[in-house]
Amino acid sequence: MTVRCSERVYDSQGFGDYLCSRPVAKDKDGQPVLEGGKPYCSIHLPSVVARRRVERGAKWRQKWEGWLEERRRQAACLVACKGVSTEDLEQGNYVILKKEETTNDSAH
Ligand SMILES: [Zn+2]
Repeated sequence: MTVRCSERVYDSQGFGDYLCSRPVAKDKDGQPVLEGGKPYCSIHLPSVVARRRVERGAKWRQKWEGWLEERRRQAACLVACKGVSTEDLEQGNYVILKKEETTNDSAH
C-alpha cells in the first residue's frame, strides 16, 4: 500500500478538495515521517508548514517596517524642506538646517 500525504488540498478552480498526491516524506531509514500520527509529504509536514508561516511572517514584518520607515522619512523630509520651493529642491538650491538653528528659529 502506498502511503499518501494526509493533507487535503483545495482545487484552484473551486471544485472541492482532494488528498495531496505528493509522495510522503521519509526519514533516513526510508520510513514515512509521521506528525500527529499521520504521514505528510515534505511540503505539508505540520512542522514545515509552521516554519514557512513564521518565515513568511518575518518577511512581511520586514516589508511593513520598511514601509513605516519610508513614511517616517517622507514626513521628516517634509519638515526639513519646509519653506524651500520645489524648484529649489529639484535644483539643489537648499541648505539642510541644523537642529539648533531650527530650534532658535521656532522660539519666536
Ligand atoms: Zn502533501
